[in-house]
Amino acid sequence: MANVKDPWELALMRQSGRRLAEVVALLREAIRPGVTTAELDEIAEREITARGGRPSFKGYTAGGDVPFPATICASPNEQVVHGFPNDAALTDGDIISIDVGLIYGGFHADCAFTAAIGDVAQDVQRLLDETERSLYEGIAQARPGNRIGDIGHAIQSYIEPQGYGIVREFVGHGIGKRLHEAPSVPNYGTPNRGRLLQEGLCIAIEPMITLGNHETDMLDDGWTVVTSDGSLAAHFEHTVAVTPKGPEILTVLDDSLSHPG
Ligand code: MG
Repeated sequence: MANVKDPWELALMRQSGRRLAEVVALLREAIRPGVTTAELDEIAEREITARGGRPSFKGYTAGGDVPFPATICASPNEQVVHGFPNDAALTDGDIISIDVGLIYGGFHADCAFTAAIGDVAQDVQRLLDETERSLYEGIAQARPGNRIGDIGHAIQSYIEPQGYGIVREFVGHGIGKRLHEAPSVPNYGTPNRGRLLQEGLCIAIEPMITLGNHETDMLDDGWTVVTSDGSLAAHFEHTVAVTPKGPEILTVLDDSLSHPG
């Protein structure tokens, strides 16, 4: 079936994922009060290039008119995804969502995280922690024989009882030779519905969770997505392969963490 990777392709996906995990670790280290997202973008592009890769997002049009201008998406506070890096310094108490992708050996990897800058309020830290946990709830369902709806259901049934909003207009996706492939991977769903997950399918799972409701707006730049109610948003993403042993997270550094199931 479409977009299922053979063992050779999966080996290349692992190499892409490993490289991206290294870049993400460097970005996490660089985040602190006073740093600008333009500086983080420079680090990302330099480190991707140093590893023989190319940024996946720079120049990407997503079917629209405006090519994405940067290597990372940098989305502070009420921005959900696809914010542009700029020269504003990150400030104590902010949160920042960083999304970054690279292509290496013909295959893409995609990863995102939200970080707190300095000290943030307890409810904000909890939003970050629970969004990341919901990603792992979804990842645990990425095993052969399950369906796409099982992933979304796991995220939704973890998040919604806590009163958070789940962004619906943007979802996860298949990934490989193209950054965005079938199938779509919503962060909500019905168990045992949707496409069957087969060995070799690679997907980016990426819950986008808000302190308010699920509605979003797009800014005039044609890219930046913000919460309609101005509430804070968090975003965590891994590229995951469906393997006979269960989910394999491709965008982690430590092999001991790559098989959470
Ligand atoms: Mg993605």
